[in-house]
Amino acid sequence: MAWGGGWGGGGGMMGGGGHPGGTGTTGLPFGGIPQELMDGVRKIVANEPTHEPVSISFHQLPNEAESRRLTLGRMIRSHVGLFTFASILVILISAASQAGPALVGYAIDHGMQSGHHSLSVVLTCSILYLVAAGAAALFTRWQTSVSGRLASRVMYDLRIKVFTHFQRLSLDFFTDEKAGVLMSRMTSDIENLQQLLQDGLAQFAMQGLTMVIITATLFATNVTLATWTVLLVVPVLFVLTVWFHVRSEHTYLRARDAIAMVLADLSESLYGIRVVTANNRQRHNIIHHRNVVGDYKKANLATGQVMAVYGPVTIAVGILSQALLLGIGGNMVLKGQLSLGGLTLFILYLNRFFQPIQLLVQQYNLLQQGRSSIIRLRELLETAPSVNEVPNAMTLPPIEGRLTFENVSFGYSPDRPVLEHVNLDIAPGESVAFVGPTGAGKSTLAKLATRFYDPTAGRVLVDGIDLTSVTMRSLRSQLGVVPQEPFLFSGTIRVNLRFGRPEATDHDIEEAVDVVGLRDLIDRLPNGLDTVVHERGQTLSAGERQLLALARAFLARPRVLVLDEATSSLDLRSETIIERALDRMLEGRTAILIAHRLTTAQRADRIVVVDQGGIVEVGSHQELVAAQGIYAGMYEAWIASGGRDASL
Ligand code: ATP
Repeated sequence: MAWGGGWGGGGGMMGGGGHPGGTGTTGLPFGGIPQELMDGVRKIVANEPTHEPVSISFHQLPNEAESRRLTLGRMIRSHVGLFTFASILVILISAASQAGPALVGYAIDHGMQSGHHSLSVVLTCSILYLVAAGAAALFTRWQTSVSGRLASRVMYDLRIKVFTHFQRLSLDFFTDEKAGVLMSRMTSDIENLQQLLQDGLAQFAMQGLTMVIITATLFATNVTLATWTVLLVVPVLFVLTVWFHVRSEHTYLRARDAIAMVLADLSESLYGIRVVTANNRQRHNIIHHRNVVGDYKKANLATGQVMAVYGPVTIAVGILSQALLLGIGGNMVLKGQLSLGGLTLFILYLNRFFQPIQLLVQQYNLLQQGRSSIIRLRELLETAPSVNEVPNAMTLPPIEGRLTFENVSFGYSPDRPVLEHVNLDIAPGESVAFVGPTGAGKSTLAKLATRFYDPTAGRVLVDGIDLTSVTMRSLRSQLGVVPQEPFLFSGTIRVNLRFGRPEATDHDIEEAVDVVGLRDLIDRLPNGLDTVVHERGQTLSAGERQLLALARAFLARPRVLVLDEATSSLDLRSETIIERALDRMLEGRTAILIAHRLTTAQRADRIVVVDQGGIVEVGSHQELVAAQGIYAGMYEAWIASGGRDASL
């Protein structure tokens, strides 16, 4: 074991032990690693399970298997072995559990009736009863464990499937859909299905099978009485069940939607807790949450009410038919048309006939919830990304970085155009600053350049190649984006920086840190680059997050860089650092800078003024100031305000 030897021979790791095998050269006593500790380590490592490397391939376009419609059958089919085993066990359980009444009937007729007194028959029947009950218990134990395994595997597949689908979907989907609703698909919907698979399906099969076995046994015992039983029971149950199905279906779908809204409201409130507290919105939030939770409660109550009718009515039907059967069957016994054992068997089985129906009512809840969950998950999986690869999309070759907007029009919704007929050519290595009033469409232009959206008309080209004709992966690997709100993932700073280029060496990371001017921050942090940042980087300041996002983009070494207001949260000192860093980052790269500060805009080779969905001015700083247009007006306002800190 390589590291065992490495540790043993290392110097200075565990000083202070006075071990005779000290390093000598450093003059420090080295305790070495005690033999028993090493033995312990070896033992633990020897027992560690070996994890095979997982090979995951992700393609923007799903393959044939991935794009198949989601059904319970398909989900189970991939684990057909387990399913078959579970089904066999279900059959065995049903058969073993229903042997009892038949044995009782046989013992009465052949062991207890006058003329048929036989202790051995009675004893054999009672032993067989015991064996059957024991076997049923044993099979149930196996079946529960097999179903549990089946459910876990199917749910694992489903979770990966839904998560992979999320990775494919476009930005507009995530902007339009509430995060909490998506979370509820992954939590409560998938959990419902898990329950259905774990308990529901087997129970359903078992109860159904029990009813078939009982009906067959009743007919085999006495056709007349069996016909009476079926006539008494089946029509009433049929009508009741249809009523129950129709009434409950809507309420279950309503409940699924309502719980999604509860989770959506919860996640929004938690995410925006700072704004909530700062604006004293706690009371309002509670009222709102009460309403949302109230809707969920109402949906559940409606379901409960339907069940409250169905359950007791079936019990009443059961008791009524037992009483009638006692009358009809008793009369048949008196007339000698049925044995006493036969009647006992009928009454016992009839009781058992209604047990599954009672259980089915409870399981129906699971089934309906599972059905609604499948419907919602299927809808989700059938949502096609609005920005997608064409089949046979080509791999974008290494680009020089010419970006062209060719008569581009775009609107987030068809009735509200945001950009109209935009034409712009950015040469390789050129940096262009987009300036203009808020809401003019600057970020939208940047989103089109990085293919977060596709234009509604016109084309966006990189090196003359239409962005829609290349694979997402090859495109994005050559683009770098520093978004308006830099996002950090929970993990160390090092991991966060490597995000765009996992193969980056520690040396590359150190270089990026120096170029962006992050050194001070890293030195201040307790564990330097290995300091863990918390979710969304909330333990860092906004400016620090921006610096990290810049370093991440620098490290990815893209040919085209898009910086969306990346300097807006920085103080003057950090801004100076960033501006210096920007010069390094822009060297030889095509860049779009969405600039709110004139100092940033001036660094660009050309400035593009965006206003009211179009480009109104293009030129260098000097040219635009001389042209006395919109930019010149902004510049004058900036000078008048002291030349610093004025937003465009
Ligand atoms: P700012 O300087 O404030 O960031 P901007 O010039 O970058 O503004 P954009 O973000 O491009 O402006 O927005 C242009 C218009 O599109 C705005 O009217 C905005 O309300 C609208 N818009 C932006 N994002 C969306 C979206 N996801 N869905 C619908 N409309 C949007």
